[in-house]
Amino acid sequence: MKLHILGSNSLGNCYVLESDTEALIIEAGVRMANVKKAVRWQLNKVVGAIVTHSHRDHSGHVAEMIASGVLVLALEDVFKTHNIEGKPFTKSIVPNKGYKVGNFRIFTLNVKHDVPCLGFIISHPAMGKLLFITDTITLDVRVPGLNHIMIEANYADDIVEENIGSGAMPEAMRPRLLNSHMEIEQTKAILAENDLSQVDNIILIHLSDGNSNEDRFVREVRELTGKPVYAADAGMTLDLSIQPY
Ligand SMILES: [Zn+2]
Ligand SMILES: [Zn+2]
Repeated sequence: MKLHILGSNSLGNCYVLESDTEALIIEAGVRMANVKKAVRWQLNKVVGAIVTHSHRDHSGHVAEMIASGVLVLALEDVFKTHNIEGKPFTKSIVPNKGYKVGNFRIFTLNVKHDVPCLGFIISHPAMGKLLFITDTITLDVRVPGLNHIMIEANYADDIVEENIGSGAMPEAMRPRLLNSHMEIEQTKAILAENDLSQVDNIILIHLSDGNSNEDRFVREVRELTGKPVYAADAGMTLDLSIQPY
């Protein structure tokens, strides 16, 4: 199972999980042309797309996806935001439920953003179990048996304070940030609370342009977990195949 990272920040988020026979899109924040290129124009491999929430950087291209015949699973709020509720290829989903798309099994989690937002536990025979968590201040549940983790590491408190001090970031932006995105210490706390014994990859996603430090975040999470850790960058492809133990 390959993970193609097409975008992972406030400009646009999109990831494609691709096995030999099928592909699942996570987030609709980049143009379909980029998705098509990622699967080398084998659009028939795409079994569907899952979208966490209505913000443009995650759902901006959802109408384009359904127009391309891709089944999109998302909260009704996402379809309403783009005036496409009830349209063909839209499927409304809710938190704490299981869905099947091709051979991907998806369980939805409720997370804490400033609009309704989902987290996903995605399972596939070729990949094992992947936790996908973005745009949330925290995660309340522990998830057993994980093989891969994609988790937001948006900002660090000390970098935010530095940026406010220097005038690089308006102080008025602080409350929204603190109530909608994940701080690196929270990312680390969630990782520390979960059983990582079967985890092969930890991928930090949705890093803030100005309020994060990619090298430092990767190093800190690597030191904490002892696992291979990556910071998601557009254009990156990682292997998420299940490793036999
Ligand atoms: Zn976002
Ligand atoms: Zn958001």
